[in-house]
Amino acid sequence: MPLHTGPGKPDERPMSMNPFFGEANPVVEMTQAPPKHRLPDGPMPPSIAYQLVHDELMLDGNSRLNLATFVSTWMEDQADRLMSECRDKNMIDKDEYPRTAELERRCVAMLAHLWNAPDPESAVGCSTTGSSEACMLAGMALKRRWARRNADRYPSADARPNLVMGVNVQICWDKFCNFWEVEARQVPMEGDRFHLDPQAAADLCDENTIGVVGILGSTFDGSYEPIAELCAALDNLQERTGLDIPVHVDGASGGMIAPFLDPDLVWDFRLPRVASINTSGHKYGLVYPGVGWALWRDKEALPEELVFRVNYLGGDMPTFALNFSRPGAQVVAQYYTFLRLGQDGYRAVQQTTRSVARELAHRIEALGDFELLTRGDELPVFAFTTAPDVEAYDVFDVSRRMREFGWLVPAYTFPANREDLCVLRIVCRNGFSTDLADLFLEDLSRALPGLRRQPHPLTRDKQKASSFHH
Ligand SMILES: *Cc1c(COP(=O)(O)O)cnc(C)c1O
Repeated sequence: MPLHTGPGKPDERPMSMNPFFGEANPVVEMTQAPPKHRLPDGPMPPSIAYQLVHDELMLDGNSRLNLATFVSTWMEDQADRLMSECRDKNMIDKDEYPRTAELERRCVAMLAHLWNAPDPESAVGCSTTGSSEACMLAGMALKRRWARRNADRYPSADARPNLVMGVNVQICWDKFCNFWEVEARQVPMEGDRFHLDPQAAADLCDENTIGVVGILGSTFDGSYEPIAELCAALDNLQERTGLDIPVHVDGASGGMIAPFLDPDLVWDFRLPRVASINTSGHKYGLVYPGVGWALWRDKEALPEELVFRVNYLGGDMPTFALNFSRPGAQVVAQYYTFLRLGQDGYRAVQQTTRSVARELAHRIEALGDFELLTRGDELPVFAFTTAPDVEAYDVFDVSRRMREFGWLVPAYTFPANREDLCVLRIVCRNGFSTDLADLFLEDLSRALPGLRRQPHPLTRDKQKASSFHH
């Protein structure tokens, strides 16, 4: 099955050609219209190929108006320039591009400091294509450590490992459990708790638990999970049972927010139980996709046998990655951004984004039709739903109407045990300015009278996404 066939049959018609596409004479020089789903028989001039691809992409949405994504949609010209200068560099060729390799190491060291590794020099880490790959690597390390711990106890190796997490985890953890054959033990939501409960998580642990994942913060509503409380619950479990369960913090977004805006929140390597942390450089790390980071608190947290070695300046350099070849440009852009902004710069950028989120959440609440689940004061992200007395329309109608103005705001149903709850979520990012937020609110206010006049919600059930994971 080709993974990329859209709904219905593939379009068999060739691409449409504009008579202007002839180099000089529009009548005789027209290139033959190329087919869409098989390799064309012959070449065409680059200018025409460019125009065909460019024109088709015009129908993609405007990424800056996409309030669904966490991923950076704006960088400076200087970053663009560096990225195009490094497009040809392969991250794996450490020997050939030793300076790029060095910049990656510096980024890891900077993150180790930022996340308060007890001994930043001995923290280990790597860049990845994003948090998903970083989570796979961290999960593999947890699984291998569990296997080692149990090598004596289970010589027959018939025990099934499990990983404990909230039901609100990002889909990458479902992938990890599926790909690496680990049972996913998920703590459901309950009442107004939309993320992991520390005690409920500890209660799910047993001798085959490879670790517990805490999320900073949840993609569902932008809330931080209580990492310190989770570690305390697991300390308590260890006192009672002897089980010593490591914690991985999925800081895909919050790993680059909390250090700057919530320095007193203890969620990172200051907690001895936190074995590893990941973040997405391409989310609040402020770099274009795809770059992520995975760090382990020390060498003991990352089993040596998972690390492979490649040539580097006559010696060898340890690498830990799923892919072999990978672009170097994003890592260079991450280093540029660290250098460019520094602590104070990151704080200013993230503070501005959080202010926009809080203010917009507040003003949406003031419209009277909505109730906030979160207020944008942890991740600059908030979720809201319709007030109980709103019966004419639902969140799916709001999402559809806002799309007509060009705004992408996802509406989705929550997982167990709050399947009754449907929400809208807004992700504020650098580049979503107060001015754009004003325009958004204007459009929402303009949509409301029509929505209120509806006889009933109009979006049919089957259009209501029930599993939204990003
Ligand atoms: C985005 C996200 C991921 C996946 O990250 P990618 O960089 O998109 O692969 C994992 N966990 C959380 C909490 C996220 O927000």
